[in-house]
Amino acid sequence: METLLYKLTWPEVEEYLRRQDIILLPTGSTEQHGRHIAIDNDTFTAFEIAKRVAEKTGVLVAPPIPYGNSIHHMRFPGTITLTFNTLVKVYKEVCMSLLKHGFKKIVILNGHGGNINAIDQAIREIREETGAIVYNVMVFPMEKGFGSESLKILEQEGGGHACEMETSIALYLGQRVLMEKAEKMRKKLTEFDEKYMGKVSTAINFDEITENGNLGDPTLATKEKGRIMVEAVVEEISQFIEDLKKI
Ligand SMILES: [Zn+2]
Repeated sequence: METLLYKLTWPEVEEYLRRQDIILLPTGSTEQHGRHIAIDNDTFTAFEIAKRVAEKTGVLVAPPIPYGNSIHHMRFPGTITLTFNTLVKVYKEVCMSLLKHGFKKIVILNGHGGNINAIDQAIREIREETGAIVYNVMVFPMEKGFGSESLKILEQEGGGHACEMETSIALYLGQRVLMEKAEKMRKKLTEFDEKYMGKVSTAINFDEITENGNLGDPTLATKEKGRIMVEAVVEEISQFIEDLKKI
């Protein structure tokens, strides 16, 4: 079965809506990912995970939204960012279009941490205005999210961007990764930053904390680690979709 919404004709979408009301909406960012991973990685990952979940569960995937909130990466060439308010509107208007057609359960599959607040704001506004519930799901394994158990295979200290975790997943999913350029995060943190990071938040930019653009240690990345994490995330998100079908 074709699972990509934009590869269907409108009568095929109408037919789908007669038996199913769930749709996945992938989104990520267009932002620097160190010296070794292509700039589209967050969107690419969200889309690849969405396609795998769709294959397992038989639900449709909407076209991915390629841009996110990446203001903190703007000093690295190639990054494209939308402001918070624009992004809220984009998520909202895409979801509203889908709701109008009769998709009642929208699951946003997000590949970029910087989007979380804007997605939450959009889905809150949708709830208030229409009563519809839209879900916000992170596609990378997170401590409290889907695939959390698989994080045990990681060896790096720290991480969170173009790191051992993200690079392993990129390798497994067939992303353009230049492993020979991968290097451990070259820290630019001051003693003050190190002391208060995590306790105090501020509008710091990536170029102020890392010289090469990544965090953690991508040199520890392997395709096999990527496989373990992707399979865990796909399995658990698919389970969520199966449960969602029942409510
Ligand atoms: Zn990323």
